[in-house]
Amino acid sequence: MPAVTSNIVPLRHARPGVVAYVKSPAEWFVSNSGWIQGSEGVVLVDTCGTEQATLELVRDVRKYAGEQELTVVVTHAHGEHHNGVGVALREGGTALAAPGSVDLVKAGPQTYGNVFTYTQWGVLEPPEPAAVKPVPGWQRLDLGDAVADVVAVPGVAHTAGDLVVHEPRSGTLFTGDLVYIGDTPLAVHGSVPGWLSALDWLQDTFRPRTLVPGHGPVATPGHSALHAMRVYLEWLLEVTERQTDFTRLANQASLRWPHWRNPERHIGNLMRAYADQHGRKLDVDLAVDAVLAAAGGRIDLDCVLGGEPVRRIS
Ligand SMILES: [Zn+2]
Repeated sequence: MPAVTSNIVPLRHARPGVVAYVKSPAEWFVSNSGWIQGSEGVVLVDTCGTEQATLELVRDVRKYAGEQELTVVVTHAHGEHHNGVGVALREGGTALAAPGSVDLVKAGPQTYGNVFTYTQWGVLEPPEPAAVKPVPGWQRLDLGDAVADVVAVPGVAHTAGDLVVHEPRSGTLFTGDLVYIGDTPLAVHGSVPGWLSALDWLQDTFRPRTLVPGHGPVATPGHSALHAMRVYLEWLLEVTERQTDFTRLANQASLRWPHWRNPERHIGNLMRAYADQHGRKLDVDLAVDAVLAAAGGRIDLDCVLGGEPVRRIS
């Protein structure tokens, strides 16, 4: 398994203060962040899963963006995105989240002991509850000479509380986990039809020029991987319309999308798609158990995150 690297990526078209902070390879608990900097404030999009990685991220924000007031936008309440909110707000500031994620963000880090074997999370305190505010619709943040639009995704998509962040001058859209590039999407906490609708909404609403995905490299809306993601979500619905042999279907998915990392997620996604279109309630614990069975047991984040800080390559 290659070491995780974090990289500040220059964005074509973007103002100097719009930054993608991309981690590779996209993995379990390895996700992207980014920030939008103005003369009077900076918006950080997502934190990291561990204290150490979040401290490195915040150090870079301060190095490049200065000491302006910090607003952390949490794209959704999965631990690799929000665990570091309390760490990032140690010197003050505000966090924004979709209404469906606010309570989980306030509750603090999620380390999913039933899913991962890992102990080196560091000190991950929950944020002050009063510092976490919901964004139910569209909120424009005035950063002085820049703006950031924080927009709640309608309905349930990747989760029941997704947000995106748009920088309108450059057309840069931080999608959170609505977009995965080169990594198998994870739908167990969301809705497959809702996710497809959200991809249409995202394109129609913003017509973005650059996408910063939740996992994987920066892309354009025409990127073939984005098309592949849509085909995959449609396929999940198509094959589970009448079939319930999820293990066999998951094997088919692995053959059809062989370059995606973490194929063990297919079986959970198939169970979600089946439940969604047959009016069933998915037992998420059962779906996660199936994912872990496909992975051969609990997922060892030591192989992914290691005990050391992420290695910088820029
Ligand atoms: Zn997620």
